[in-house]
Amino acid sequence: MENVPHAQQEEKCPNCGMRKPEWRGNNGQGFAMGGQTYCCQGCAIGTGCTCK
Ligand SMILES: [Zn+2]
Ligand SMILES: [Zn+2]
Repeated sequence: MENVPHAQQEEKCPNCGMRKPEWRGNNGQGFAMGGQTYCCQGCAIGTGCTCK
């Protein structure tokens, strides 16, 4: 179900799929863990997204 746009790769949270402009964690920069960047710490450690 990967839908990757070919023109410009949009960074999305691998857990919840939220687009980077909507990230709340770490001042919108996201939370890096395991080589991937999540929208927030909740998604990174699996406790659930706290952005909404
Ligand atoms: Zn997320
Ligand atoms: Zn989040």
